[in-house]
Amino acid sequence: MRIKKGDVVKIRAGRDRGKTGKVLRTIAERSAVVIEGMNLLVKHLRARRSGEKGQRVRYPAPLPVSRVSLVCPKCGAATRVGMAVLTDGKRERRCMRCKQTFA
Ligand SMILES: [Zn+2]
Repeated sequence: MRIKKGDVVKIRAGRDRGKTGKVLRTIAERSAVVIEGMNLLVKHLRARRSGEKGQRVRYPAPLPVSRVSLVCPKCGAATRVGMAVLTDGKRERRCMRCKQTFA
């Protein structure tokens, strides 16, 4: 996948379409990402001990990478990601809009 943990992405489809957020986790085998504050679901927790209350906890659920696009750290545009081979043979990601590379 061309999206990494820590990237800022824009959500293109679904309930949070149009919002941007930071990637907390990537799940390569599911081609999914977890984004801070996005795709929130409610988990219902029962009281474990007497006197304690059950709670409803909101947490960000994974969503398919195909629903997001990277916000370029160099130019700020929501863009597709290409790969560039540097002169020393290393590969870096590249913004398809401004053509600048980044790790
Ligand atoms: Zn760019």
